[in-house]
Amino acid sequence: MKISDLFKTKKVVYSFEIFPPRPTSPIEVVYDALAKMQDLNPDFVSVTYGAGGSGPNSRTCEIVSHIKENYDFEPLAHLTCINSVKKDIEDTLKRLHANQIENILALRGDRNKDGSVANDFLYASELIEYVKQNPHFSVAAACYPEGHPESENLSKDIEYMKLKEDYGAEFFITQLFFDNEDFYRFVEKVRAAGISSPIHVGIMPVTNTKQIERILSLSGSKVPHKLSRLLARYGSDKDAMMQAGILYATEQIVDLLDNNVQGIHLYTMNSPSIARHITQNIDRLLYSENTSR
Ligand code: FAD
Repeated sequence: MKISDLFKTKKVVYSFEIFPPRPTSPIEVVYDALAKMQDLNPDFVSVTYGAGGSGPNSRTCEIVSHIKENYDFEPLAHLTCINSVKKDIEDTLKRLHANQIENILALRGDRNKDGSVANDFLYASELIEYVKQNPHFSVAAACYPEGHPESENLSKDIEYMKLKEDYGAEFFITQLFFDNEDFYRFVEKVRAAGISSPIHVGIMPVTNTKQIERILSLSGSKVPHKLSRLLARYGSDKDAMMQAGILYATEQIVDLLDNNVQGIHLYTMNSPSIARHITQNIDRLLYSENTSR
């Protein structure tokens, strides 16, 4: 099933993101987490891909194939391109196709620290164009409500987002953000630029101070006062911070639903417990949204 079709039939799509375990950990760690999330009934589950590109034998390919074989929800395979040669991408697509995977989140990936690139694909739009040559695949892309960290400004970033849609991206998943107002302003600009594809909102619950430092260094997202106050107050108490982060993410989602968002993508950090807490906080709201059409 093409995930893009879900946006035509559901008012609010709900999904999870997971990542493959480190190469030194057994893959069963993530299979176990998935089994524990199964009864939360996400519409789809996305699986991240190494920035360096790890080809057809990547754990991403293995995990999405496992989901396809064992679960009712659809897998979405992330695929990065900047550090991959065309042959690797072609082999990965062949393996995904052979394993009945239909949905790909096409990404550029982050540059290596030394700035080197493989040179076959410089931007996600080039990967999208390439993947779309095979009509079997439905393609999604990333977008950035606060602008991509490398972009000159948000308008320029939205121009390139439009290019991704023109090349075949059927929906977008956002980078995490902590201030919904940034998202609402972004959506206005995106629609004014003529981009009409669904925008699926990525929400990351902040459950410890170490995590927020890593997130900020990668995404450049800003932290509103309300969240920094929670971090200052509860950051040293593991359980309290976990609860505060789950409540903050829940409030963000409730406000997004109230503003007619098309979907919520939960960055679960492979934690069935976080996924369960948040899903239980909002499941009646999702049910009500999807039955009141
Ligand atoms: P692009 O759309 O190519 O944009 C990259 C930059 O180039 C932007 O600044 C853009 O404005 C600019 N640009 C785009 N096109 C052009 C052009 N034609 N000319 C000039 N400039 C241009 N990373 C991983 O390694 N693995 C993952 O699994 C992963 N999953 C992600 C999931 C989501 C939902 C998001 C939001 C990000 C994810 N990332 C992942 C991170 C992503 O790879 C990085 O943010 C990367 O730096 C940009 O990827 P992109 O696909 O948005 O790139």
